[in-house]
This record gives sequence, C-alpha cells and structure tokens, in this order.
Amino acid sequence: MSVYKNLIDGAWVTGSSVVQNVNPSDLSDVLGEYSQADTAQSLLAIDAACKAEKVWANSGIQARFDALDAIGSEILSRKGELGELLSREEGKTLVEGIGEVARAGQIFKFFAGETLRLSGEVLPSVRPNIEVQVSREPVGTVGIITPWNFPMAIPAWKIAPALAYGNTVVFKPASHVLGSAWALAEIISRAGLPEGVFNLVMGAGSVVGNELLTNNKVKAVSFTGSVNTGARVAAICSARGAKYQTEMGGKNPLVVLNDADLPTAVSCAINGAYFSTGQRCTASSRLIVEAEIHDEFVDALVEELKGLRVGNPLDASTNIGPVINHNQLNQDLEYIQIGRDEGATLQYGGERLELETDGYFLAPALFTNTHNGMRINQEEIFGPVASVIKVADFDEAVEVANDTVFGLCAGICTRSLNKATQFKRLSQAGMVMVNLPTAGVDYHVPFGGTKESSYGVREQGRYAAEFYTTVKTTYLQA
Ligand code: NAD
Repeated sequence: MSVYKNLIDGAWVTGSSVVQNVNPSDLSDVLGEYSQADTAQSLLAIDAACKAEKVWANSGIQARFDALDAIGSEILSRKGELGELLSREEGKTLVEGIGEVARAGQIFKFFAGETLRLSGEVLPSVRPNIEVQVSREPVGTVGIITPWNFPMAIPAWKIAPALAYGNTVVFKPASHVLGSAWALAEIISRAGLPEGVFNLVMGAGSVVGNELLTNNKVKAVSFTGSVNTGARVAAICSARGAKYQTEMGGKNPLVVLNDADLPTAVSCAINGAYFSTGQRCTASSRLIVEAEIHDEFVDALVEELKGLRVGNPLDASTNIGPVINHNQLNQDLEYIQIGRDEGATLQYGGERLELETDGYFLAPALFTNTHNGMRINQEEIFGPVASVIKVADFDEAVEVANDTVFGLCAGICTRSLNKATQFKRLSQAGMVMVNLPTAGVDYHVPFGGTKESSYGVREQGRYAAEFYTTVKTTYLQA
C-alpha cells in the first residue's frame, strides 16, 4: 500500500509512523497510509517556513498571483476526481464533495486576485512637510490547524490568504481526512513556490498541533475545530503573544414563523440540519417554530425525512452519507439517548443502520417536544440530529435563538420583510440567513461568528487581510 509523505522544506519525507485512512462507508476500504510526523519533524517544518519568510515576502505580487491562480485552476479542473476522494474519506455525498472542491479552487482564484489588489494608504501628517504611509506586511510563519469536516475548503480558505499576503505556512490537517489534505498539498507543491514556503505536516494534534501552538517561530495560528481545542489554542497563543483566530462550534437556530412558505422552511431545515450528515459547524440543530405552523411543519418535515436515503456517498441516490468515525457515531447515539432521557420525543430516526457495507450509518434524527434548556439544545452534537422547539411568537423565537453560548449562524423563514429585518438586527450570530439554510456560504465574503463560536478577526473575503497581514505606519519628511 502506498505511503503518503509529509512535505517539509520542499522534500517529501516519511514520518516516524503511519495511520490508515479508512472509508467510513466501508471499513474494509483503506484509502492509503499516511506518514505521521513527530516533534522533531514538526520543528524542521517550522524552521523551513521561518527560513523561507524573506524570500516569499519579497517575491512580488505577480509570483504570488501566478502560484495561487495555478493552484486554483488545477483544483477546479480535477474537481470530479478530488470530490470523489473527499466523499470517500469524509462521507459527504459526491455532489457535496465536488461542490466543496470547486469552492476550494474558487477560493485560490479569489486570493490570487487579492494579491493584485493589496493596497495601503497615503495620508497627510498633522505636522507640516510630513507624509504618512500605512502599509500591510506579512506576519511571517503561520500555523494552520484544520478539522475533518471540510477537508478541502477550510484548508483552502486559510492557506490561500496566508500565501497571498506573503506568509509561509505549516499546515497540520485533521487525521481522518489526510487524502484530501495530501492531494491539496501535492498540487501546491507544484505551483512554483520556493522551498519551505508551504509545508504539510500530518500527525497528532497533541504533537504537531502542539508544536505549532508553542513554538515562538510561529507568528500566527489559524485554527478551526472544537471549542475545547480552540480554548487551548487561545490560552497558549495569547500567553506567548502570537496572533490567533479560532473558529469553533455552533448550535445554530432556524426560526420558522407562522407566515413562512412551508416548502421553503422544510427544505431549509432538511438541508441545514441533515445534509453533510449534520457535520457542519453551521448546521441548524435547533428548529424554532411558531405555534400555529408547528404541527404542519413537523408533519411535512417527517414526510421529507422518510424520503431521504442514507448510504454510500458515491451512490448518486444517496442523500446522507455516514458519520465520520466510531467516536462521532457514539457521541451522536449518546446524545440521542440523552434527548430521550430529558423527555424529548424522538419523532423520527436516530438508529444505527446496517447497510450492505460495514460503515457508520445513522438514520437522521428529529426530536420534538423539546425546550431550549435541554442539553440536546445547548451542546453541539455534530451529527444528523435536530430538535424542534415550539414558541409562542416572534419575540420568544428571537429570545430562544439567542439563548446559547454559540453565535455562528442563525436563519429565519418568513414572508415578512419587517420580521426578517428585525431578526437580522436582533440576532447575536455572526451570519444570518433569510429563507435560506444556515449552512452554505459564499467564498468571497467574511465567515465567522460571535460568543464561543469564534474568536479573532473574520476569515475569508477581503477581511482575511486583517489576520494574515500586520500594519506598518511610516512617517516621511521631505
Ligand atoms: P478538533 O478540535 O478535535 O480538531 C481540530 C484540529 O485540531 C485537528 O487538526 C486536530 O488534530 C487538532 N488538535 C487536536 N488537539 C490539539 C492540540 N492539543 N493542539 C493543537 N491542535 C490540536 O475538532 P474536529 O473534531 O476535527 O472538528 C469538529 C469541530 O470543528 C466541531 O466542533 C465543529 O463545529 C468545528 N468546526 C468549526 C467551523 C467554524 O468555522 N466555526 C468549521 C468546521 C468545523
């Protein structure tokens, strides 16, 4: 079986051990063995990135444009093949896998363009004969730590701006999705970057990830993952004065008002709560429904759920793929039990499914008769599990929507412009959707949340410059 290696200082190197990449739809299908770096190799990668800082910072915007544009073009031209790889290892459907890969390609194209639009300011000084310049410079070596649920798009939305603004990168992907990470790194390795500018270091979070957090040569850490790991990133980076941004969990509400278009509301709920197996930080896990439309909405949602097919994501008729791994499946099943113990009604699904192949298949679960104080409505489950919370009116809907430690995304289905506008104003989330699923965002605008969902400046779009550059103010007397 082929062993996929780490990329350190321009060379592909084996690690101290390997992990197998297993298909969650078919546990007998091993995609490959992936090298695992130890601390010594992590240090080599950080040193290489550090050494390459000057050459990349001075490379000029044409070189950066060419590299990012070439990476984006190759990703887009191979989206079918890479999408299949992604779906096979992560479990989202082929349509979703190809869509994610395409998004990764578009992100590289967007940031290729941003290299040409980098600008500063020239201002008069308050003192005579002095000119003030405000310019942006790279931060230096950036550590990029990513989760398993978007194995192409999240690395892309961190690596592309890091490189575009002249930084060097040590990329540590999540261990369950090393196929996508490696394929992306391999494309980047052929884009003409000087040695050491981009390094792939696969390995344990407690080893490689920890080195990125603690090593003073790493000037900034961009992290997406769980709240617990994010808290660790924050504590360590702030203690040593490194720049950091953390994108973490969600418990996103979708409000359905009495005046909602029912098919739109049901489709938003199905997409937001269950597609990508509910394994999205933006998943709508709380469906907050006004009393008058409640029963009709639940009936229609259950009808729709009955028509969804759980199965192998590479099969065109599949709507929901498997859960990523054994631990996540156990976590989902535990929460389904917790919901029952809390007195919620398991209205649909929630059982493990035995299909033709041995995989982590779970029937999408819907709870009704829940209230917002329940653990199933306060804690992130990260699976195909959603709850309906009945509310009396719009004011209660807003109150419940905001009653969470998270603040990533919030949605509302209504035909009232007035209510939609009020909801946008009153929502405490970083992103708001009107008559759209809470999941599914554009690649050219900022992404991120409030409260325990996110910390630091926003990712993506032009706002990414805030994280990946540092501002210099120069005074010139002439
Ligand atoms: P995780 O926190 O377990 O792992 C994320 C990354 O951190 C992995 O690469 C992991 O190896 C690494 N890591 C683990 N321990 C570490 C340590 N001690 N030091 C440094 N790095 C370490 O998260 P996950 O299970 O991969 O992802 C699921 C979580 O990600 C969910 O909570 C989800 O909501 C969140 N997520 C958030 C967003 C967002 O943008 N807000 C997007 C996708 C996923």
